[in-house]
Amino acid sequence: MNKFEKGVSPFIPKESDPAILEQIASLKDELKDDLVILGHHYQRDDVIRFADVSGDSLILSQKAAEMKKKHIVFCGVYFMAECADILSDEDQKVYLPDMRAGCSMADMANINDVEVIWKHLTSGTNDKIIPVTYINSSAEIKYFVGKNDGIICTSSNASRIFDWAMERGSKILFLPDQFLGMNTAISQGIPESEIFTLDRLPLAQKIKKSKVFLWNGYCSVHKRFTLNDVISRRNEYPGINIVVHGECTADVVKASDAFGSTSTIIKIITEAKKGSVWAVGTEQHLVQRLKKRFPDKTILPLSESGFQCVTMSLITPEKLLNTLKEIKTGSTEHEIRVDPEIKHYAKIALIRMLAL
Ligand code: SF4
Repeated sequence: MNKFEKGVSPFIPKESDPAILEQIASLKDELKDDLVILGHHYQRDDVIRFADVSGDSLILSQKAAEMKKKHIVFCGVYFMAECADILSDEDQKVYLPDMRAGCSMADMANINDVEVIWKHLTSGTNDKIIPVTYINSSAEIKYFVGKNDGIICTSSNASRIFDWAMERGSKILFLPDQFLGMNTAISQGIPESEIFTLDRLPLAQKIKKSKVFLWNGYCSVHKRFTLNDVISRRNEYPGINIVVHGECTADVVKASDAFGSTSTIIKIITEAKKGSVWAVGTEQHLVQRLKKRFPDKTILPLSESGFQCVTMSLITPEKLLNTLKEIKTGSTEHEIRVDPEIKHYAKIALIRMLAL
């Protein structure tokens, strides 16, 4: 197991302390004129119940900017809070209840390494390379793509962003998720022989022949699902439908019936016929929530182990309460502030995406 695979653990539902929940509700009510709480789909139930808006990272950041509340508490991970800060106004403050709540995938693309690879690729071809980063990346990586005529994508709009990039260049450097990049490139009809995963430096000939260069990152949670999980579910439940997140490996995606973002998964399950049977390959908190929400459908995790994202789970009711108390006293201990220059170019890349 490498250091990034520590970011996943089997699903263990947590008990909440009713006294803590009561205090959050009362403090939230006290601060309501100036406060918005955002919750990602992968948060635990006793945290997400306090969210004014729940959704994926993009929807949450957009809402944060639109709602114009002075204090934005982001129950998610670090890059999401950074995104909210990039898109929000100067007088808005963004807080993350646990500063250690990072994302293993975002941590896999370090700006210095990216600059080295970029130099190698751009010096190996006269073709225009457009850098594209998945929103699950650090503010520095968003700055890098903004500064180099690139753009940001989410798992909902990756195909559209590929089109945008190919209209402006003839090659793409996709950061940091190799699997979302691979699945999108395949769905765009790009032959696998023209997709290069950057687990080593490509030679000049390879640079010329490749259309898409994939950074070697991945989500520690979604990478855990295997082709064997898909085959087992199909054997156990003949006729089962399988939907997985676009961060799963290409063999899992190819063997499934559908793939997409968390919002796509929710939409598919919501619109599915009563009585239908589904295996869902994504973070376990969302799978459990779907299961409760649709008792008229059979909803199973794709893997019995039901993986949860460890860093998302660092956000607990206790830490949410603590952050609300800090807001009341004016403390900035959990405030996320992106450096103004980084913010400037990162915002350009985000606005390019939002304009689409
Ligand atoms: S689920 Fe994966 S991509 Fe999302 S925060 Fe966790 S490690 Fe990052």
